Amino acid sequence: MKQLITVIAPMYNEEEIVEEYCMATMAALDLSNYTYEILLVNDGSKDRTLLKMQMMQERYPNHIGIINLTRNFGLEGAIYAGIRMAVGNIVVVMDADLQDPPDLILEMLKKYESGADIVIANREKRKNDNFFKRVTASIYYRVLDSLSGKIHLERGAANYRLLSGRALEKLRALPEVNGVFRVTVPFLGMKTETVIYTRNQRFAGKTKYNLKSMIRYALDSLTGISIEPLRKISLMLPIASIIFLINIIGIFVADGYWKGFFYIGVLISIFFGFVFAALALIGEYIGQIMIESKNRPTSLIYSYDPSLNGKEFL
Ligand code: UDP
Ligand code: MG
Repeated sequence: MKQLITVIAPMYNEEEIVEEYCMATMAALDLSNYTYEILLVNDGSKDRTLLKMQMMQERYPNHIGIINLTRNFGLEGAIYAGIRMAVGNIVVVMDADLQDPPDLILEMLKKYESGADIVIANREKRKNDNFFKRVTASIYYRVLDSLSGKIHLERGAANYRLLSGRALEKLRALPEVNGVFRVTVPFLGMKTETVIYTRNQRFAGKTKYNLKSMIRYALDSLTGISIEPLRKISLMLPIASIIFLINIIGIFVADGYWKGFFYIGVLISIFFGFVFAALALIGEYIGQIMIESKNRPTSLIYSYDPSLNGKEFL
């Protein structure tokens, strides 16, 4: 029997795109050696997105499935709804505005066939994004990468990814509630390959992200990946020490009226030194609480081959 691919396509107010997206994706997948279903996730749209989805499902009942969320949960919520419900042996997550070209799935499948568990589609160029988005994205990925510790993040890669059944199983087993797909997938490790593509312009409609929601999204993934930002509080300690030293030197060098100034400076920098030390300590504890409450396993096992001795006892 042919393997089944489930394509997860989150949509929020995309009435102009539903049909075009489905047609383009089906045309691409028809060329593959797999059977497929496209799971359209309606993320609480306020326009006629759901209606359009239902029309497509009526026309192609074998290929179109619909998940209708109770309200708008945001992109991550929509992706995870798809992850929970997908029945395919392979899952592909992609934006539904045709910025992620559906043809690329064929290339990703080749990598899967040669043994990859995860295939990341990474953007070669952002020529279709404006200057502001390019600059903020570059800062975002740089910071995220510097905080990610042992987890390998692919710079520039967003949500267009293919997961094998094994990867999907491991992803579903992660207990965290507020998962960010582009952080939880790299956490899995496993054999990961990349394909490169140039991102298209949106087919129709507008981006759903304004500055505020972009900042919120960035913060979610930053705080989701590690407790490093909390640890950075302790950087304030050497800064307070330097200010302290400058003031001490000031006491010796200055005289009269100025001497008094530097005495006050010494007192203030000692005071702030204590406050920052206390904050850094509290930060460590909060970090531990975060780690514990996320409940992520300390490691994930890819395969296990016990010794001959061990097998006897299994
Ligand atoms: N999206 C969603 N829920 C939201 C916001 C966006 O499902 O609350 C979907 C949207 O319909 C699109 C994808 O997420 O398929 C990416 O959104 P968008 O194109 O607006 O983001 P951009 O490409 O501008 O970063
Ligand atoms: Mg888009």
